Amino acid sequence: MLYLPTRIFLGSSALNDARAYICNEGKKALIVCGKSSAHKSGVLAELLPILAEEGIAHSVFSGVCENPDLDCVTQGKDQFLREGCDFLIAIGGGSPMDAAKAISLAAANKLSEDQLYDATLRKKSYGIVAIPTTHGTGSEVTQYSVLTNTKTQIKAGFGSDLIFPRLAIVDARYMTSLSSRVSLNTSMDALSHLLEGIYSTKREPLLFPMITRGIRLIIDNLSLCLKEPDYLPARQALAQASLWGGVAIAHTSTTLQHAIGYPFTTEFGVPHGLANAMFLRQIMEFYAPAIKDELSLLFARIGMSPEEFIAWLNSFPIQLKVDLGGIKLEDWIEQILNSRNIQISPVIPTAIELREIIRSIQKD
Ligand code: NAP
Ligand code: FE
Repeated sequence: MLYLPTRIFLGSSALNDARAYICNEGKKALIVCGKSSAHKSGVLAELLPILAEEGIAHSVFSGVCENPDLDCVTQGKDQFLREGCDFLIAIGGGSPMDAAKAISLAAANKLSEDQLYDATLRKKSYGIVAIPTTHGTGSEVTQYSVLTNTKTQIKAGFGSDLIFPRLAIVDARYMTSLSSRVSLNTSMDALSHLLEGIYSTKREPLLFPMITRGIRLIIDNLSLCLKEPDYLPARQALAQASLWGGVAIAHTSTTLQHAIGYPFTTEFGVPHGLANAMFLRQIMEFYAPAIKDELSLLFARIGMSPEEFIAWLNSFPIQLKVDLGGIKLEDWIEQILNSRNIQISPVIPTAIELREIIRSIQKD
């Protein structure tokens, strides 16, 4: 079954093409963004004149940090209600897009931080326009919001069809200002999503051609993009792959591949995409015996052997080694095994197997 209620605009005239649809969303927008990317990407410079010409008022909430927490959602909700907004425009990477989704639900249902994860309390939402400025999360086309609980410091996502963005405006011109580190990390996130579209027990064969094409686009364009950050065709390919990765996980959800990285992000500040990338090879090898046919099809379609793929992967600086000495490994293992991503993994690891995978990145 395929379901995607988001209207997608792709390419260098995406914002203009979406103009009439943005007008239908409401009269006053809360613009949700981080500190710098809405400006650096050039989105605000193009968006604000359009809003002014169309008579749409706005209020800017630029308080979204990387890996947003529940406090940030409350601040955004308060501003949304105080300013009398009636829709949201998220500009940035996954962090502002995920924050905007949670703000939408919190404001529409008057939810406190503790209530956000309770699906029974989510009855309605405000419309969300998503304008990604990274090519990684695909959050512009997913129903997920990933947040860090401020008290427990545990990072966990939730999904609700109410928070699929109404419009996704994907223009690679907004991504040329990305640093090479963020370009690499977010591309690895997109690669993880595409692979998880195949790994997940909810895999949907109808999506396979799109997934394999997305993976090939990353293989063909990532090095080029890192060498020539302003070369638009490479960015366009990566933006497209990221979008497809989002479409994939909107149907299949993510797996252990994502769950294993979350504590590394909250404990050590490892960027989300890199936290996925550092375990990419290990997770593929762990899953391989259970998904032989799917992986054979994947490698046939991308025209590479598994060894060539791993060699390509290893050509990027993603082999992070971490000193695990100070962490409560058993707590991490329990947290990962309890995460909602685990159940749809093709193999559910035992605590011993999980410990082994985590220890593979132990610093000597
Ligand atoms: P991000 O945390 O949104 O942004 C990373 C950094 O990149 C920030 O410092 C940001 O700056 C900067 N940046 C963004 N766009 C830029 C641009 N065009 N030019 C220059 N700098 C730019 O990174 P992300 O990897 O896209 O998002 C990660 C988050 O998304 C994680 O919390 C992850 O769990 C979540 N996620 C969600 C989904 C989903 O389906 N909902 C899927 C995967 C991941 P500023 O902060 O200063 O603006
Ligand atoms: Fe991700």
